Amino acid sequence: MLGAEEALEAVLGQARPLGGEVAGLAAATGRILLDPVRADRDQPPFDRVLVDGYAVRAASLGSGARLRVVAEIAAGQTSRTVVGPGEAAAVMTGAPMPPGADAAIMVEHTARESVAGEEFVTWPAPGASPPPVRPGTAVAPRGCETRAGTVLLRPGGRITAAAAGVLASVGKVRVQVGRRPTVAVMSTGDELLHPRARRPGPARIRDANSPMLAARCRALGLRVRRLGIVRDDPERLRTAIRTGLESDVLLLSGGVSMGRFDYVEPVLEGLGVRLLVTSVRIRPGKPFVFGFREEDSASSGLVFGLPGNPVSAFTAFELFARPALDRLEGMERVRRPRFRVRLLNPVVNRGPRQAFLPGRVRTAPDGVLEARGIRSVGSADLGAIGQANALLVLPAGAGEAPPGAEILAMPLEGFPDSGPGWQDPRG
Ligand code: AMP
Ligand code: MG
Repeated sequence: MLGAEEALEAVLGQARPLGGEVAGLAAATGRILLDPVRADRDQPPFDRVLVDGYAVRAASLGSGARLRVVAEIAAGQTSRTVVGPGEAAAVMTGAPMPPGADAAIMVEHTARESVAGEEFVTWPAPGASPPPVRPGTAVAPRGCETRAGTVLLRPGGRITAAAAGVLASVGKVRVQVGRRPTVAVMSTGDELLHPRARRPGPARIRDANSPMLAARCRALGLRVRRLGIVRDDPERLRTAIRTGLESDVLLLSGGVSMGRFDYVEPVLEGLGVRLLVTSVRIRPGKPFVFGFREEDSASSGLVFGLPGNPVSAFTAFELFARPALDRLEGMERVRRPRFRVRLLNPVVNRGPRQAFLPGRVRTAPDGVLEARGIRSVGSADLGAIGQANALLVLPAGAGEAPPGAEILAMPLEGFPDSGPGWQDPRG
C-alpha cells in the first residue's frame, strides 16, 4: 500500500498539462498563465511627476524662492518649454517632467500670485515648512520600476486580479492560458437516491458525493459533466464509465473497496484503464483508486475512484485529484500548502495510517493560527467535514496531540477564520 506522498507522485506522473488556448484579459483571470509576460517598455515610460505642484530646478530654491511660471502640464501632456533657473512649470501628478527641471514641489507648500499678467510661485509659502528639495525629489525617473523586456509575470501560476492589472499595463489583452480539463462526476451504489428524494426508504441514503465533488470542481472553474447515480451492476458501470472516460478526468465514488458488489476496479481494467494506485495508507480515504487509460484518446483519461464514504471521498479529492486537475491546467506548483497550527483541543491518531482530520482554524489576535479538531464519528460523518476549513494532519501512530501542540493543517475553503466565532453547532 502506498503512502500519501507516493500516491500523489503516481498521480502527477500521469497528469500532463493539456496545452494552451488564447483568452481575452477578462476571461484569462483565474486561469494559468503559460507564457512569461515582459514589460513592453520602461516603467514609468518617462520621468514622472509624483505630486500636484511645480517642476523646478532644485538649485533655484535655496532656502526660499520666487519663481516665474512658464508652463502648465497635465497628466497625459508633454511640454517642450524648458524650465530655466528661477522658473517653474505647473504640473499634475502623472505628468512627464519638462526639460530643464529636475525636481517637483508640492502645491501645498507654495503660494501663487499674478503680477502684470505674469504668474509667480513662492516657495515655501508663508507658514509652510517643507522638507528640503534635491534633484530627483518627487520624480520617478524613467525605468525605475522596470526596464523594457523584464519578465513581470512568470508562467505556471494562476492569473490574479493584480496580475490582470500587469497584463493590461503592458498591453497584453490576449494571453495564452492553460486549457481546463473537463470533468465527469458519478456516484455508484444501489443504496443511493437523488438528493431530491422526499422519503428515502429505510436502507437508502441520498447521494452526497456527486453534488459535493461537482461543486468543488465548479469552484475551481472547471466544466462538469454529471453522470448521476450508477447502480452496482457491472454492465451499467461499464456503460457509464465509458462515457465518463470521454472527459479528461473521471471522478467516481463508491464501489472501490472490498465489498461483494464493489465492481469498479474490474470494470475499469476491462475498459483498458491501468490502475496505479488501489489503496493509500491514509485515514480516511484508504480505498482510493487511481488509473489512466493506456490507449491513445482525445481525453487525458485519468480516473479517480474515490471512496464511497463522503468524508473519505472529499479528503481523497483534495489530496490527489485537485493537484492533478491543477497540473492538467498547466499549474507548476500543485502541492497543497500546509500550515503550522496550534491545537486548542486534543486530537488523536492511534492507527497505523497518516490521518487527515476535520478541523477549524482561526487566527488568534497575535496572528498565530489556532486549530480545533471537530468531533467526528468517522469517515461517513459529513456533518464534521461540512464545518471544517482545514484537514489536520497527524502522522501514523502519533497518539494524542494535546492542546498547545503544534501540528500541520491543510487549508480548505474558508481557511482561516479571522478571530473567534466558530462553535460546533452540534454541541
Ligand atoms: P462503498 O465505497 O461503495 O463501499 O461505500 C462506502 C460507504 O459510503 C457506504 O456506507 C455507502 O453507502 C456510502 N456512500 C457511497 N456513495 C455515497 C454517496 N454518493 N453519498 C453518500 N454516501 C455514499
Ligand atoms: Mg457501494
